[in-house]
Amino acid sequence: MDLNNLKSDPIVVVGGGFGGLSTVQALLARSDGTPIILIDQSPRFLFKPLLYELLSGELEVWEVAPKFSALASELGFIFLQESVVEVDELESKLITSSETEVKYSQLVISTGVKTDYSLVGGLNEYSYGFSNLNDVLSIKELITSINNSSNYTNPLVIAGAGPTGVELACKLSDLVKNRVAICLVDKGNRILSKSKSFNREKAIDAIAERNIKIYLRHYIESIDENTIEFRNIETESNNSLKINYSGFLWTAGLRPSRLNIVDSFLDENKKIKVNQFLQINEYQNIFFVGDIVFCENYPFPSSAQVAMQQGYLTAQNIISLRKGNKLKSFQFKDLGEMLSLGIGNASITGYGITLAGPLAFEIRHLAYLMRMPSFSLSLKSAGSWLFSKK
Ligand SMILES: Cc1cc2nc3c(=O)[nH]c(=O)nc-3n(C[C@H](O)[C@H](O)[C@H](O)COP(=O)(O)OP(=O)(O)OC[C@H]3O[C@@H](n4cnc5c(N)ncnc54)[C@H](O)[C@@H]3O)c2cc1C
Repeated sequence: MDLNNLKSDPIVVVGGGFGGLSTVQALLARSDGTPIILIDQSPRFLFKPLLYELLSGELEVWEVAPKFSALASELGFIFLQESVVEVDELESKLITSSETEVKYSQLVISTGVKTDYSLVGGLNEYSYGFSNLNDVLSIKELITSINNSSNYTNPLVIAGAGPTGVELACKLSDLVKNRVAICLVDKGNRILSKSKSFNREKAIDAIAERNIKIYLRHYIESIDENTIEFRNIETESNNSLKINYSGFLWTAGLRPSRLNIVDSFLDENKKIKVNQFLQINEYQNIFFVGDIVFCENYPFPSSAQVAMQQGYLTAQNIISLRKGNKLKSFQFKDLGEMLSLGIGNASITGYGITLAGPLAFEIRHLAYLMRMPSFSLSLKSAGSWLFSKK
């Protein structure tokens, strides 16, 4: 694709996660013929809430991670697989790692967050993250080793009892068929501290049915090849728990993906403080969307739901900006929360229902299929899911 021969400066979206791809889709729906370019370093969109089902083999890669190239030709945008390293706001252009320069009329940055391995010494070498396809593959190998060898008797340790830690604990426990215990470690007073109370209660039930031990008010102090040391946050003495482990999964810290314009605006919470239009006041032609942002006056959580709603609003605001109309403020509409709680089990609060169990699992699956970025993919995946049923 010759980017110099476009009929006008394109609208460019960097990062094709939930925020970026929703922006692209909403822009296409209101298309005035301006070219739309999506740039992502990865070849695939990743539907992260379904990573648990990919880990368990309940879903396959093509269902959870469709290729951007296929989405681009179905939906009608230009896709560049590149890592963006620099944004030159004065020249309205960005530069990729292969030194390609891309001019923009408006720019959306939605580069998300990734696992932060810098928080405890040894994390880089000895822990698994759970936020991309490589993580899933590595953990799958670990599960296979545990299930095929009697050498693994020590627990699997998971740091972080937020949704990712809890959902992973339940799924892993089912996948290793209780062969090894799971230890869930968290600094807080309770698991799922920000979740809906019904979902938290159902998660507590799901944990109680499995070989999962919870260590609240504990933090990971150190990790080496064989042992993990964790400590109660209140204990001033030198007492700490030191255990041997079969595998260690770190879900307790995230940081934004690196990009100069993002790096220079991060605050102490490692987020970009944006105004109600998801902009930084200095840059009128740039919008920031998804997990990298927070807004003091209009608070919202970091979730796929938020990123998608921000994407839709940003598309509207870009059109308004181009027409000289007023921009709209972002206000999060909480539609509810769905948790995966082991194989074939889930809990839902919201979307007009409060439900847990196998039916909730089916509804969660269907709800996510409907949010797939392409209609033909939703249909194909729904078909494969229905035909796989006994
Ligand atoms: C295991 C797991 C389960 C989850 N479950 C849920 C759930 O059930 N419900 C929910 O609402 N949320 C869930 N989330 C959170 C949700 O996935 C995120 O909030 C959402 O993905 C944020 O979207 P985003 O667009 O900000 O970033 P992302 O989806 O992370 O996308 C960022 C994109 O930017 C690209 N990128 C990064 N840097 C560059 C660069 N320099 N150049 C080019 N491309 C770049 C990346 O490759 C990536 O594709 C879950 C997250 C995880 C990890």
